[in-house]
Amino acid sequence: MAEILVLGAGMVGVSTALALQARGHDVTIVDRNAPGRETSYGNAGLIQTEAVEPYAMPLAPGALLQIAMGRGYDVKWNIPGLLDQAWAVLAYAWNSLPAAHKRASKVWGKLIRQSTDHHGPLIEAAGLDNIIRRNGYIELHRTPAKLDKARAAVERFRTEFGVEGTMLDSAELRALEPSIKIPVEGATHWSDSWNCSDPGGLVAGYAALFQKRGGRILNGDAGDLHRKGAAWVADEASGEHAVIALGPWSPMMLARYGLKVPMVFKRGYHRHFHMDAPPHHPVADFANSVVLSPMRRGLRIATAAELTRNPRLTPPQLKHGEEAARELFDIGAPVEAEPWTGRRPCMPDMLPVVGAVPDQPGLWAHFGHGHQGFTLGPVTAEVLAEEMDGGQGWAELQPGRLKR
Ligand SMILES: Cc1cc2nc3c(=O)[nH]c(=O)nc-3n(C[C@H](O)[C@H](O)[C@H](O)COP(=O)(O)OP(=O)(O)OC[C@H]3O[C@@H](n4cnc5c(N)ncnc54)[C@H](O)[C@@H]3O)c2cc1C
Repeated sequence: MAEILVLGAGMVGVSTALALQARGHDVTIVDRNAPGRETSYGNAGLIQTEAVEPYAMPLAPGALLQIAMGRGYDVKWNIPGLLDQAWAVLAYAWNSLPAAHKRASKVWGKLIRQSTDHHGPLIEAAGLDNIIRRNGYIELHRTPAKLDKARAAVERFRTEFGVEGTMLDSAELRALEPSIKIPVEGATHWSDSWNCSDPGGLVAGYAALFQKRGGRILNGDAGDLHRKGAAWVADEASGEHAVIALGPWSPMMLARYGLKVPMVFKRGYHRHFHMDAPPHHPVADFANSVVLSPMRRGLRIATAAELTRNPRLTPPQLKHGEEAARELFDIGAPVEAEPWTGRRPCMPDMLPVVGAVPDQPGLWAHFGHGHQGFTLGPVTAEVLAEEMDGGQGWAELQPGRLKR
């Protein structure tokens, strides 16, 4: 049994703490906020088994031109935001080329396919079934060309990864999701995937389970992490090991320990809207770059990627997403006065960082899950816990790759 500090109480940190605790370790989480109040609060709530390929950057000349000209709603940027992360963005583009993306997908797909197996027992033990739906999610296709592409993806994902997806025509879609007001070309129903109506609540519930099982949560600043003899100390807690699970704040911490982490910070926004008859499933409308998720607080409109240093007061992606949502559904007024914003912690090679920090005995990294950290937290937590207990870890995820 070892004493272990886990820095960060998002989905990734809390899952890490639970996995280590299950192996008999004495674990303390340190977070300056309550569990699940940052990125793990603001996502679209999808626990995905179908997202077997990480998001590649669109590299077709037309798509790149559209992004460069500031048109479209998939990626918005401004000059300070781009300059801050220029090298990471270039590396991300390089890794979006077919051969590199295929290599990353092999590893990513293996992780993603385990997601519901790892969430399932935690949801049950935490008594959180009331905020989980196991009915999949729906991706809309607005043109015949997109529908054909989607059909090919369903076939490929089934053969290569064993993913279950069903193509729906307009009538079948309306039957499954009667709250959609307009006819669309068709849809994919990814029936294996789960979704959560309160993502922050799920993390808080996992954290409560960790405490019930004897774990400690210290409300404090992990920013002063330092070594004292053989121990790692953060705020008032100490341990033989420390795990950095600070999501988009992880690179700042690791820079102090000799590891320069190139990260693409893909900002997203969400806002809830009142709705009398919400959809039964989350609905992705990628033609308009939004995911629309029925949540406890209302319909959550979550946006795609923005590369900006500071959040915008009236984000264009959210405004456009609201228009698309109003076309599809009867939605009412916004629930909150201001939208929520946070940053997806994306690694340029699209794989999370999981394993021992080079040259720093007892220091471990666990972050960089990009678009799917809510899904993957418990999966990679198990990978890390096994390595911390003397296992090999996964070579492709090791922090050492960042030193090259
Ligand atoms: C709009 C949007 C939609 C998304 N949709 C999905 C989805 O549907 N499904 C999915 O799987 N993923 C989704 N994601 C991605 C997912 O939310 C993230 O990958 C995931 O939440 C990252 O979790 P984390 O624990 O690494 O980071 P976080 O949840 O950000 O946790 C980091 C923690 O570190 C703490 N911290 C930071 N600095 C300090 C400090 N100095 N001292 C103490 N504590 C500190 C913070 O308080 C925070 O609690 C989405 C993201 C966005 C932005």
